[in-house]
Amino acid sequence: MKQPVICIRVLINQLPRQLRRGIYEMDERFTQASGTHVYTGCELLVKGALESGVSLLTGYPGSPLAEVFDVIQRNAELLKNNGIVAQIANNEALSIARLNGSQMADVRAIAFMKSVGLHVASDALAISNLAGTTEGAVVVVGDDTWSHSTQVPADSRFLARHVYTPLIEPSTFQELKDWVNCAFQISAAADLYVCYLTTENQASGGGNVELQPNIYPDITGLKRVNLDTELIDADKRVVLPPHTAQIETETLQERLPTALEMARHLGLNTIQFARETSGKNRFPLGFVSAGLAHSCLLHALGELNLYGDIPVLKLGMTHPIDADIVREFAEQIDEIYVVEEKRPLLENEIKALLTQMYQDGGIKRYVNIWGKQFPDGLAGIPAASGLDTSILIQKLIPLLKHRLATESGTGDSEEADPLVDLRHFSREETLQKAVAEQQIAIPQRTPTFCPGCPHRDSSSVFLEITRQFMDADYMKKHHASGPVDIVFHGDIGCYSMLKYEPFPRLMHNLSAMALGGGSGAGIDNKQIVFMGDSTFFHGGLAAISDSIKNNQDIAYIILDNQTTAMTGHQPTPAGELDILGNPTFAQDIELVAQGLAGSSEIDIVRTNPEDRGHYKKYLEKPILKP
Ligand code: SF4
Repeated sequence: MKQPVICIRVLINQLPRQLRRGIYEMDERFTQASGTHVYTGCELLVKGALESGVSLLTGYPGSPLAEVFDVIQRNAELLKNNGIVAQIANNEALSIARLNGSQMADVRAIAFMKSVGLHVASDALAISNLAGTTEGAVVVVGDDTWSHSTQVPADSRFLARHVYTPLIEPSTFQELKDWVNCAFQISAAADLYVCYLTTENQASGGGNVELQPNIYPDITGLKRVNLDTELIDADKRVVLPPHTAQIETETLQERLPTALEMARHLGLNTIQFARETSGKNRFPLGFVSAGLAHSCLLHALGELNLYGDIPVLKLGMTHPIDADIVREFAEQIDEIYVVEEKRPLLENEIKALLTQMYQDGGIKRYVNIWGKQFPDGLAGIPAASGLDTSILIQKLIPLLKHRLATESGTGDSEEADPLVDLRHFSREETLQKAVAEQQIAIPQRTPTFCPGCPHRDSSSVFLEITRQFMDADYMKKHHASGPVDIVFHGDIGCYSMLKYEPFPRLMHNLSAMALGGGSGAGIDNKQIVFMGDSTFFHGGLAAISDSIKNNQDIAYIILDNQTTAMTGHQPTPAGELDILGNPTFAQDIELVAQGLAGSSEIDIVRTNPEDRGHYKKYLEKPILKP
């Protein structure tokens, strides 16, 4: 019978010195109570949470929000002094479970994760959201709309709708901080979790913002409270049939409308640059936008000398959409143009809202909605990847010429319409073209392991093995057997870079985080999968157990460097300190794996790939095993 082989190798300890000692200097910006200061986007999210009276910060590191955990780490003293709990969960779903538990008391809790982390968390979020809140639960998700460092296109707006959470999309850096508090207020009022959408540009960018005093919570790690279980409303907190259908109705008819009311009260949705027109004098067009796309839109209009000249409906809450403000906006303009990143979600929902209003007689005319497609064959806003100001300028110039310049002229005349400065448009087009044609003479290269990374040793040895093991003469001479074709399963971590030269032979598929081993179920080839230590605790344990149970012929190569290296060296369960520098029990991967393997004949080996000779021998053993 085939036996899985679990091989654990030890790599250098990469923990930053400060983390090992738990020493960081106090950053006074995080206690600043007034005035202004400059912060990165991730810093603003933490400062926003502090200004909101948060008791619990949790989540799982992933770009573009991994820096949030570094910020928490750097502010460990501030958090500990005020009893604010901060914990990195083993995975995103567990962080949502923490939020769920927190809402048995009157506390505010927040979780941070990347878009694919929200996928992992979605099961927990769906049920926790319906169980409701006390003081508020906010889930901050980071979308990498350009897929710079995320394996699948990110658009968390769809998932927020799927699990019935209100969705807030801050646009400016001031909003990025301030609306964290708005999200908590909405969450508490609506008895729902609130998803808080940020994008890579916002999280990794930064700006100068006005500050408020921090609010330190009453319930903290310093002043513990025992829950009175008599006061826990289990009917509410335990979401199960037959009540689920009733909760669904209540969510649609009461809780989401309450979220909308609260968003109105907080002024999250606004009509900007409204024109004093009505009836036949409506302005020819207006834009609807949200989040980063809104910032890009205003920037683009500014570059075109049109800032403040065209009405814009800015949606701060994009789920649910406020039908009243959409109607009010539609009454002021002839046509709506939706500017959003990714697929036409706002566009389709606004189309549906206005069509319904027209059918019901709530509005007297049919309003054209454009977005991914512009009228008369003009190219609309791209549905794939992200947006930036240059892309918008390129799309808006033909549209604005077509729609505004023809109002009183031909569109070709430089005298056409005082609003549209065709000479300026022409200069802008020339500039865009010149920028696009710029060639920067830098060598192209694919991502690769850091110099000195132990993966280099490991991968080089595997390359040698695969080359030799596919050579019939070599195998006959050295191992008295035929060639062996090894399948390498990919996983999420630095080792994802095995896809690129010179290692593509070492990655044949990619499922998702911690699922590499599962990709091999039913395959007869010898199999290898790489796994990081954070991934091991995230979900890798389940994959290894699955392989053992199903007698998969596979070797797991587990990186044990006691840190989440790829996202910036956050602590893992294998480390001796938590994110606040508190001592914790360091879980030993080898012992955990041994626990799964039990008394089976599965080999568990701890080794260092730097010693290539020994490392190669260890690797060859499971591959040669009949
Ligand atoms: S590539 Fe990843 S594992 Fe290797 S040294 Fe760099 S951060 Fe560490």
